[in-house]
Parts: sequence; C-alpha cells; structure tokens
Amino acid sequence: MKQFTNSLTNKSTNPRTPQIGVIGTMGDIQYSKKIESLAESIGEEIAKNGATLVFGAEKDYDSLSSAACRGAKKAGGLTVGVTYGKGLTVAESNADVIIATGMERGGGRELPLVLSCDVVISIGGGSGTLNEITIAYQAGIPVVALKGSGGWSDSLAGYYLDSRKRFKIQTVTDPARAVTMALALIRTRDQRPKEILLIAATHGNETIGAEVLRRVSQETQNINYDWLIGNERAVKNNTRYVDTDLNRSAPGDKNSPAYEERRAAELVSASQNYRYVIDLHGTGAKTGIVTIVTNPTLENLLLAAALPVKNIVIWSSKRSAARGPITRFVPCGVEIEAGPKNDPAVQQELYRVVYQIVSQGIRPTLNMMREKNIFQVYGRVEKEFISPEEARQLKDFQKTSINGQILYPFIVGQYADYWCYALKRVELENVFQY
Ligand SMILES: [Zn+2]
Repeated sequence: MKQFTNSLTNKSTNPRTPQIGVIGTMGDIQYSKKIESLAESIGEEIAKNGATLVFGAEKDYDSLSSAACRGAKKAGGLTVGVTYGKGLTVAESNADVIIATGMERGGGRELPLVLSCDVVISIGGGSGTLNEITIAYQAGIPVVALKGSGGWSDSLAGYYLDSRKRFKIQTVTDPARAVTMALALIRTRDQRPKEILLIAATHGNETIGAEVLRRVSQETQNINYDWLIGNERAVKNNTRYVDTDLNRSAPGDKNSPAYEERRAAELVSASQNYRYVIDLHGTGAKTGIVTIVTNPTLENLLLAAALPVKNIVIWSSKRSAARGPITRFVPCGVEIEAGPKNDPAVQQELYRVVYQIVSQGIRPTLNMMREKNIFQVYGRVEKEFISPEEARQLKDFQKTSINGQILYPFIVGQYADYWCYALKRVELENVFQY
C-alpha cells in the first residue's frame, strides 16, 4: 500500500544543526592576509555557535572558503568540504568530511555545495562565488555578504539579484555579525508563516495530487507551503469517502459521528493560517488540468488567474446550502481538477503546475486574467437532450451546439444520470474594463 507523508503532522522540531556555507575568493585571485583572517574568524564563529561549516574544497589552490574551514576546526567545529571530480584528497587538511560530487569546478560542483547550506556567507569572491550566490538566490537560500571584503560580496551587498525581489543580499561588516545574522535568517525562515496550503485526496480515490505532492516535496524546500492528505481513511480504503462526501461537508462539525464532518472542521480550521489554499482533485474525464472556483470572490478569481493553469471553471456551490466544498470555507482557495487521473501525461502536467506554484509562489495581478479561458457551469446536458450516439461526440471544453444552444461540455462520461455539465464562456475582462 502507498504511504503518504503528511507534512503538517511531521512538523516536529528538526534536530539537525544549521549548515552554514562560506563562499569566497579562490587563491588564483589575489586577496590580502587581512581578508583571509576575516574568513578564518567567520569559520571560528560558526563553530562556536555549534553550526556545521560547509565549504568548497579545492585540490590545488587555497581559498577564503578553506580559510573558514581552518577557523572552524580551530574552534572545534565540524567541517564539510564539497569538492569536484573524483577522489577524496583535497588541499585543505582540516576537513572532517569530504563530499566528492563527480562534477567539475565551475561546472556543477557549486550546486551540491550551495544546496547543502541553510544559509551562505560570502566574502570577496570572483566568478565562482557569483555563480554560488545566484544558485542560493534561486533556491531561496539566504546570502550574507561581508562588506569591505571586495569582489562580488562588495558589489552585491544590499541588493536584490533581480526584479522578483525575493530577498536582499544581507550586508554585514564583521565576522561575528555575519554568523549572528546567518543564524537569525535560519530562525526567521523556520518561523515564518507559510503562504500556501495544498490539500490532496479530499476524495480518497483521487490520489493523483498526493503522488504529485510527495514528489514535489522531495524536490523542493518547503519554505513557503505545507501539504496534507484530505481524507486519509478513504485513501486507505481507496474509496471516495468513508461516511459522507468530505467535499460536501465543510465547514464541518468536530462533534459529528461522521468522520468526514469532523475532518472537514479540521481542514477548515487549519486553512485559516494560510493565505492560499489549493485542493487537488482527479477525475476520469478528459478535462486536462483545470482550476475550479467554487466561491467566485475577487480574491479567489485572482488566485485562479495567478496559477499556471489555462482553463478556469467557475462552479459556484449553492450559497443557500449549509454544507459545501472545503474551498468555500477558506480565506482564499480554489480546486485544481486533473483528468484523466490515471494518464501519466496528466500526472506529469499536474506535477509541473504544482512544482511551479510551490517554487515560484503565487503573485496575482489583474492582467493574468487576460491569459485565461474562463468558463462557468450553468447546467447539465441531460440524457433526454441527445442520443447516446450524439453524446459520444461530446468532448471536454470542445464547443458544441445542442438544440441550438452553444455550450462547452465538462466532465464528460462520468455520471449515470446525465451526459456532462454544460459550460458557457465568461469574459471577466468586461467586468473590469469599460
Ligand atoms: Zn474530487
């Protein structure tokens, strides 16, 4: 049986000690004795604070990174050198652990080096250091630059690397402050409330989202999101639900005898701590990937527009009904439907979408609405409207005419009582523009 990780319940304290990287000029570029001793002091401070030093271990030249290793060792710290090529022999003799990446210097070694750090401190620095700083920036790993140490550290201190403005390269002027700042940045990262909650398998027989999230969470740092399984009991049974449909049970009732009613209350409550909630579903129909807005507020439509999904379906849950879908009862949330859920191409596409959401974040703008196809569910294509032969021509999102009425079929072939849902196009732009 498949086992799923539930990141919310596994959020216990992490016993790992912080891994602080020191990157900087290599010995084939001149640097002064004074700068070298600053690098050593940074290493010393890292060790005194009980953190692990990660450095770029060279096989020929000395470097500021290696100088930090000597400082850390002097203070009794643990030092990890990440080197290029094969073989564990490096120039710096104070390394406790050597990682041989099999990759070239300036040709890949920098990735495992930087990605193995919670934060990096940069001192001086030529093109190799610049490379490492950009890797850190793109991976969301904070960078602290020692001002006055020359090279790229001086040039970039206090700046964002691009107009995304993810984070500024932090500026410090002395080694002790560099390490205090680095540790503070790790703490802020760990305590920062996360923006996005992804829910998978709200219907227990729709595990496509759970499989995608398990993959994505292994490949990304979940700095900005949490995820959880909606209906764990139904997943175990491989059924849509155990007692009642979870996605018709919100806002739920924590005292209900029905499991899903209790679970809905938990999910709605957990959702209040996030800015955005995305509930991942799967269907047998050939819908492709589509965003479903169950509660068409401006915030929810903007969220839908910000997701890397072309088709948006507004499918309002009945306002009059006391119970409804999870996303109707969260501060800001939509569903993503993926189908056919067993198609590997659809699974890959959902993976791409979710990966992009968690790695790039969600930044809605009104302009994004223009790039979307927006539909609205307005009825159903009933069995008596057309013959089974005609019904076979119906395809999801493919414009058709039934009894003189233009419509777009949605979720074709999944229901016993009707052929599919009927969509009409919506031009939201007309609402916002004169
Ligand atoms: Zn579903």
